[in-house]
Amino acid sequence: MIFEQIFNMINVGLVVLDADLRVRHWNRWMELHSGISAESIVGEPIFSFYPDLNNPKFIRNCKAVLKFGNFAFFSQKLHSYLFPLKPASSFGHKFNNMQQGCTMGPLRDQDNIIRHLYISVQDVTEVVAYEQKLVAMNMQDGLTGVYNRRFLEGKLKEEFGRHKRYARPFGVIMCDIDFFKKVNDTYGHQCGDQVLKYVAATIQKLIRDTDYLARYGGEEFCCLLPEADLEAARKLAERLRQGVARGKTSCGDQEVEVTVSFGVAAVGPAIETPETLLALADQALYEAKRAGRNRVVVCPD
Ligand code: GH3
Ligand code: MG
Ligand code: MG
Repeated sequence: MIFEQIFNMINVGLVVLDADLRVRHWNRWMELHSGISAESIVGEPIFSFYPDLNNPKFIRNCKAVLKFGNFAFFSQKLHSYLFPLKPASSFGHKFNNMQQGCTMGPLRDQDNIIRHLYISVQDVTEVVAYEQKLVAMNMQDGLTGVYNRRFLEGKLKEEFGRHKRYARPFGVIMCDIDFFKKVNDTYGHQCGDQVLKYVAATIQKLIRDTDYLARYGGEEFCCLLPEADLEAARKLAERLRQGVARGKTSCGDQEVEVTVSFGVAAVGPAIETPETLLALADQALYEAKRAGRNRVVVCPD
C-alpha cells in the first residue's frame, strides 16, 4: 500500500512489463504525460501503444534484462527519448518530444526468478535545453548573435588544416567599422550597439551559409570563407562594403549611416600558419584605413 503510493507519487515515469512485454503497471506520472490511463494500457502489449519500441535494440535489451538480470540505460544523448511524450517544461517548445533518460532493470519474485522488468523515465528536457544554451553561448557573441572570437579561432585552425591537407582555397576578410567612436560619441553607446547589430546582420545576409562571420573585437568582424580564393574573397568584401554603406539603421528617431573598411587575404604557398593569414588580412585592413576608409584592400600574394 505504501509502495503503491510512492509508485504513483514519484516524479518519474515507472512502467512494469511482463515477459511477453505486456504492461503490468503504469504509474500516475506515465498517465499524466502520455494521456494514456493505466486502466486502458495495463494488460496490453507495450507495442500496441508504442509501436516504435518494437525494434531489435529495445527487444534485445528487454530479453537481456529478463534472462540475465542485466540493467540497460537509454541515455538522452544517444536516444533523445524512449517514449514519445509531449514536453512538459517551459523549455519544451524547443523539442517535439520530452527528452528522457531511461533505465531498465529486472524485478525478481520471491523465488528469485525474473518475470518482470521495470522501465524508469526521467524528464531531462530542461537540462538538455540549458546545455544547448550554454554550448551556443560559448560560441556566440551576446550582442550581435554572430560567432565569437573563440569559435572563430578554432574554425580558422580547422579550415587552415583542411586547406593544407587537400589544397583547397580559403579566404578571410577582416572588417572594421569606420569612425565608430564618433557614432558612440554623437548618438550614444546604445545607438553604437544598434549599429554593431546592423553591420553584423547586413554581412550575415550577404555571405553564404558555409561561411563564418564572427565578432572579432569591439567593432571588428572577421569572415572565414572556405573554398574562396583571393579574387572571390575580394569580390565578396566589395559586396559587403556596398551593402553596409548603402543601408542605414535607426536609433530612436535618428537615422545612422556607417561605412566599413575591409582587409582581404587568402591562403597561398608562403602562408604557413593560420595566424599569418589573419595577420595579412589585418595588414590589408590597416592599409584600407590609411587609404581613406570605406574600401577593400587585398593583401599582396
Ligand atoms: P577607425 O575608423 O580608425 O576604425 O576609427 P574607430 O573610431 O572606429 O576606431 P577606434 O578603435 O578608435 O574606436 C572603436 C570604438 O568602438 C571604441 C569603443 O568604445 C567602441 N566599442 C567597442 N566595443 C563596443 C560595443 O560593444 N558597443 C559600443 N557601443 N561601442 C563599442
Ligand atoms: Mg577597431
Ligand atoms: Mg573602427
